[in-house]
Amino acid sequence: MKRTMLSGNEAIARGAFEAGVKVASAYPGTPSTEILENIARYSTIDASWAPNEKVALEVGIGASFGGGRALVAMKHVGVNVAADPLFTLSYTGVRGGLVLVTADDPELHSSQNEQDNRNYAKFAKIPMFEPSDSQEALDFTRLALEVSERFDTPVMLRTTTRISHSKSVVEPGEPAAGPSTAGCIEKNPAKFVMLPGNARKRHTVVEERLRSMEEWACHQSFNRIEVGEGKVGVITSGVSYLYAKEILPDADILKLGLVYPLPKQLIRDFASRYDTLYVIEELDPFIEEQVRALGIAVHGKDLLPICGELTPARLNKALTAKDVQNYFVPSEPLPNRPPNMCPGCPHRSIFYSLNRLKAFVTGDIGCYTLGFMEPLSAMDTCICMGASIGNATGMTKVLDPEEARRVVAVIGDSTFLHTGINGLMDMVYNKSTATVLILDNRITAMTGRQENPGSGYTLMGEETTRIDLEALCRSVGVKHVTVIDPYDIEHTRNVIKTEMQRPEVSVVIARRPCMLVKRDPVKRQPSLAVDADKCTGCRACLQLGCPAIEWQPDAGDKGKAVINPLLCCGCGLCSQMCHFDAIGVRHEG
Ligand code: SF4
Ligand code: SF4
Ligand code: SF4
Repeated sequence: MKRTMLSGNEAIARGAFEAGVKVASAYPGTPSTEILENIARYSTIDASWAPNEKVALEVGIGASFGGGRALVAMKHVGVNVAADPLFTLSYTGVRGGLVLVTADDPELHSSQNEQDNRNYAKFAKIPMFEPSDSQEALDFTRLALEVSERFDTPVMLRTTTRISHSKSVVEPGEPAAGPSTAGCIEKNPAKFVMLPGNARKRHTVVEERLRSMEEWACHQSFNRIEVGEGKVGVITSGVSYLYAKEILPDADILKLGLVYPLPKQLIRDFASRYDTLYVIEELDPFIEEQVRALGIAVHGKDLLPICGELTPARLNKALTAKDVQNYFVPSEPLPNRPPNMCPGCPHRSIFYSLNRLKAFVTGDIGCYTLGFMEPLSAMDTCICMGASIGNATGMTKVLDPEEARRVVAVIGDSTFLHTGINGLMDMVYNKSTATVLILDNRITAMTGRQENPGSGYTLMGEETTRIDLEALCRSVGVKHVTVIDPYDIEHTRNVIKTEMQRPEVSVVIARRPCMLVKRDPVKRQPSLAVDADKCTGCRACLQLGCPAIEWQPDAGDKGKAVINPLLCCGCGLCSQMCHFDAIGVRHEG
């Protein structure tokens, strides 16, 4: 077929289509999100957003057990959520092939940690492929599904942000129908029911599977040797392969497509040829430690950084001690642009109010994590998806009652449905007194506005049942559920203040659609303007941190505010802040 440019994520979607995948499920998370968004374009695949990664994998497992091929995608931290079914799936094996894509994020471009998920493959005893470009992302997706069925195992496919988001040339293949067993039930409790007696036997199967895969992998073309000048040897994989080729163009390279289990004999044979052998890999010494365990001396993390992306510049510096600049540097210094919520974001007034009320805020993952930034400065913890509520419960258990009243958990609608609901059940059951604020903007905003069970739409854009958050909270035993409009600052602050004083669990749902959701009826208001004659330079409006409000330090005695009409969406929050009636509707002309 005609060659084309695809990102790694687009190529994985194409590979799933070509391999005859029947079901794909995911929870959005950068850098994995576009995999499902692209799969949704193939009508032969049932693609859906799950409320969390564990559910996504469980859906994939069901499809596989039914005989269909399945693909499940998530970012690296999502695998932590899905780890429970994953480790047992390693024991049961599959029927239809099952691929779990983990999109890792070296350098933490958009994540709360920098974990290296190659370790999951070893820990769960399942094979892991690692593509180095988009062509391999497509090919390895197909291959992984075949390997999954051949060795009766789930297979992981690991990408990193550079592979997920960068584009390279791909030659698409012809689509296949997938296994013919799709949709038929096969009773086999010894394989699928992991009671201890069955699981013990399956553990033995898992170990034998790994041994036979390791031998098989020594003779497969995805683990290949590229011959250079024969003086220096390099063992590498993934995006590090491209960097190694760039910095050491004359080296002999053993490029590993399958990073677990490693082809030990192939590695022994390769290593025996060199006095100088490098293992070039990003983040953890995953390959290096296994190579050293074979009794082979290598250079690896004694030279290379263990933290952050392994860029060509960093690799060059590590190997040659030369600080060579091989990346673009702008000729003019660029202004610093710290991340900020959009103008008109419904979350802004919430954090302003929490700051004023001197709340201690246990936060969560989403756009609202930006409530941590100045001038709002109203987020005090942030651990992982859904942790805010449990964190608040724990705090209230150790603080004296007066201090405990200051604790407020803040969580978004999607994150609440992801895993926050579990924390709320615990909060009610174990009699916590904290207040929970659910910021319901009717979408999964931070990853790019994906639907969720609270939005009322599926990934395919079909209308569906919308989870009633108020009813859900009441159903787990919350007696005090209040819905507020966060655009009304005074009411918002009064309700939060009242609920913070309440000596039992209460939930406040702050409901306003995200400004960027097109289908929700957010009526854009005319932009506002500052009347310079009335502005006293009190700076109260600046406390909102709205990027549309600019400051003119030389105007008047103290400076004056001015509103950028290109950014302002007329939400009206700033006019509520101004006690001098200086902010009103802009009159053009
Ligand atoms: S994307 Fe939506 S929720 Fe996120 S900061 Fe912008 S307006 Fe707020
Ligand atoms: S709050 Fe009103 S008076 Fe104060 S700086 Fe802003 S526009 Fe000017
Ligand atoms: S009305 Fe005020 S707070 Fe709202 S977007 Fe415009 S400048 Fe920002």
